[in-house]
Amino acid sequence: MFESDHPLITSLYIVAAVLFIIGLKMLNRATTARRGNLISGVGMLAAIVATCLLKGMTFGWILFGAVVGSAIGAVAAYAVKMTAMPEMVGLFNGFGGLASMLVAWAEFHKWRVEGWVKYHQLLGTGAPDSPLFTAVATVFTAIVGAVTFSGSVVAFLKLGEWITGKPILFRGQRWVNAALVGMILVTAVLMVVRGPQDITGYGALVVVIVLSLLLGVTSVIPIGGADMPVVISLLNSYSGVAAAAAGFILLNTGLIVAGSLVGASGLILTNIMCKAMNRSLANVLFSGFGSGEGTTSAAVQGEVKPISVEDAYYILEAARSVVFVPGYGMAVAQAQHVVRELGQLLEKNGAEVRYCIHPVAGRMPGHMNVLLAEANVPYEQLVEPGDVNPVMDTVDVAVVIGANDVVNPAAREDPSSPLWGMPIIEVDRARTCIVLKRSMRAGFAGVENPLFYKPNTRMLFGDAKATVSALVSEFKSE
Ligand code: NDP
Repeated sequence: MFESDHPLITSLYIVAAVLFIIGLKMLNRATTARRGNLISGVGMLAAIVATCLLKGMTFGWILFGAVVGSAIGAVAAYAVKMTAMPEMVGLFNGFGGLASMLVAWAEFHKWRVEGWVKYHQLLGTGAPDSPLFTAVATVFTAIVGAVTFSGSVVAFLKLGEWITGKPILFRGQRWVNAALVGMILVTAVLMVVRGPQDITGYGALVVVIVLSLLLGVTSVIPIGGADMPVVISLLNSYSGVAAAAAGFILLNTGLIVAGSLVGASGLILTNIMCKAMNRSLANVLFSGFGSGEGTTSAAVQGEVKPISVEDAYYILEAARSVVFVPGYGMAVAQAQHVVRELGQLLEKNGAEVRYCIHPVAGRMPGHMNVLLAEANVPYEQLVEPGDVNPVMDTVDVAVVIGANDVVNPAAREDPSSPLWGMPIIEVDRARTCIVLKRSMRAGFAGVENPLFYKPNTRMLFGDAKATVSALVSEFKSE
């Protein structure tokens, strides 16, 4: 067993940190993402081995935790449906926060029972001489961990539609949140000043945890379901910050590095998603988007023009350039394989085929990319809105497959729309737009879509998989 500053331990943590960074870097390309994930996993294994080799470690519990945790993780990952992936990610973030919060509490308790000098020695890590440092790290970890946990549980319940996805708003909500933050800060100072030996200090930590759990709930309930991806990504970042802070209590380099990477990457993803919706983070967190308050849209004009599969076939058959725009409905229908087949048939017919993916299409970041990759759509055919929008007028047919909010022209045309300003895929500017969905129901944001009433739009009603399969059959029978 080794001291924490033993070269073997330091080397293992450095190897782990390097593997985390390489793995993370590889996640930015679909072709290398799987290997990147594996490499980061190996990094985590190196960090766990280093921790097990530390002086005073009791293997039994670590092994028990690793076996039980891996089993639950593996079963959950296999069992979860692709459409329920965001809920699971949200819940896992929450557990990360909960783990950090429990570490903070357990360490504070150990410090209370053993006294600073003995606790200091037990850490076996050349802990700081300053109890103030450890106390601040402890309370910070407890606050961020608790907010992450309860916030993630609310996000999980909202996404899984266990509770309403609409913003839950009440009078004086911001004052309640501000008061909670104020109380948390005062109690945190009390905890740090009194320390664990004093029952007031120990009690203060418990109060901080309860108040922070409450704050997590009250800060996520006013956020609408459509904004949950951003919230989940932000909570992911918080869970990293909480883990890094826990690393400062335990003075564990591996935890500090891993936590910081999660914290930073979560924040970058949050920023990317806010940009994709043309909204600030403050607007996402505090505007109660989707509550229906003050979000009256201009009356939609025009007439809906339903078409049959046969009509759609003739339009597609004559097309020289086709852009598929997948959305949440494609995931629900699991239509990605038949869509790929239709794409191949169109190519054979001489059309240029592209798949345009909006950053917030579906119900999780990268949702459409994952589905299309699963169906072996070539990466070079995947394009971003910025690639297609400037030349949309030259596209013969835009085929919208179960997408709604991400193609809603109200974002461009109606300043009173809740979607106003959100960058969309401008399918309404294509020569013809065929929309595949089952009914006239609104998308996730609950906003009516004027696209369906445009003169160049044709509605092809039905389940996306059944409809695309019928189109494939039409092509094959000709
Ligand atoms: P939307 O949720 O706006 O619309 C999906 C459409 O698919 C619905 O209008 C529905 O219409 C249709 N649909 C559902 N099932 C089927 C089916 N079996 N066959 C055919 N159509 C079907 O999806 P978008 O992808 O356009 O937009 C995503 C929305 O979700 C955005 O508001 C985004 O902010 C939000 N969001 C995004 C997340 C992310 O990270 N990507 C996470 C959480 C929310 P009908 O019922 O008539 O068939």
